[in-house]
Amino acid sequence: MIYLDNAGTTKVSKKVKQAMLPFFDEDYGNASSLYTFGQRAKEQLENARAMVAKCLNAQPREIYFTSGGSESDNWAINAAAQIGARQNKKHIISTTFEHHAVLHTLKKLESQGFEVTYLPVHENGIVRLDELKQAMRLDTCLVTIMFANNEIGTIQPIAEIGKLCREKKILFHTDAVQATGHVAIDVVAMNIDMLSMSSHKFHGPKGVGALYVRQGIALSNLIEGGAQERGKRAGTENVAGIYGMAVALQDAVAEMKEVAARETKLRDKLFTELGKIPHSAINGDRKHRLPNNFNMCFEGIEGESLLLLLDDAGVCASSGSACTSGSLDPSHVLLAIGRPHEVAHGSLRLTLSKYTTEDEIDYVIKKVPEIVDYLRKMSPVWDELQKGERKYAL
Ligand SMILES: *Cc1c(COP(=O)(O)O)cnc(C)c1O
Repeated sequence: MIYLDNAGTTKVSKKVKQAMLPFFDEDYGNASSLYTFGQRAKEQLENARAMVAKCLNAQPREIYFTSGGSESDNWAINAAAQIGARQNKKHIISTTFEHHAVLHTLKKLESQGFEVTYLPVHENGIVRLDELKQAMRLDTCLVTIMFANNEIGTIQPIAEIGKLCREKKILFHTDAVQATGHVAIDVVAMNIDMLSMSSHKFHGPKGVGALYVRQGIALSNLIEGGAQERGKRAGTENVAGIYGMAVALQDAVAEMKEVAARETKLRDKLFTELGKIPHSAINGDRKHRLPNNFNMCFEGIEGESLLLLLDDAGVCASSGSACTSGSLDPSHVLLAIGRPHEVAHGSLRLTLSKYTTEDEIDYVIKKVPEIVDYLRKMSPVWDELQKGERKYAL
């Protein structure tokens, strides 16, 4: 099996798994208990907080552990909205291609009287600073813009956005779930006020994440109950998961340069070779993107059929479309960068990891053109394109 859906989730590394095991055996004590046995878990919990903080250039007290990226996004945005509402500021700026954990939270806030400006991300999948500046108002309480997109991998000018927000005294949250552990992050240098991350996107376990909140921001409580996470998110801590995440992040940061260089080389080989397929196009900026992200459209095919045939050939890939949820709507991200509906349907996302080998990439480079060719031969749309009854978009 060739696994190329690392933006969907990643394999837990052996080292991370080993680091987690003691918390199921000798160190299972409750981190909030008073006896020495529980204190060991407590110690490792706080070590994990310091490790995660260090990877972002944050302070340990600025890190809150959560159940993952979706929870962190929800918490950050709702908390910022509450701060805004208290000052009668009910305008938020975001983009059209955020993750649904952000978009659906914003939609809910809109139904509660907030106004949201969704910045366009243009053909290259990157927001423009002048448009952000123009959208900023006196009643803007929050800018939430993702660090890197999960479908097309494009990286936003985060430091510049942060600087602009700090100047205007507007809170800046970034969904950095795809970026954390993959590209360098410095919350101080980048003027980030809140940042979401998720462990399972960098070879840590699923169901654990973190929210960074800059010291001095009045973060509202998410879960009422015990005093865990400084009383803001109650519930016995998932020490094994949290410690696993911290080890995974530390590793990812230590290996970042080397892994990125390898991934970029293999990814670019995919772009070069699969780019030879006629009527195809890269989705999103070629340069300002995550090192492991490949995303292309092939005109005249259905991405879902491509995925099923790739699955038969032993390759796990993604189309980036919402077909998994049973809807046939094309991806909101591809529509946001201006791909027409019928082209957006023919997309393929391949996301690499440190475990991806050149042999695997060579196999995919051989298989994809064969499958695209096969699907086009059966496609009535392709037939019309070939006969000139329909115009090529790519
Ligand atoms: C995966 C992902 C999320 C959701 O994270 P979970 O830990 O699965 O809840 C949010 N935002 C982005 C950009 C993601 O890629």
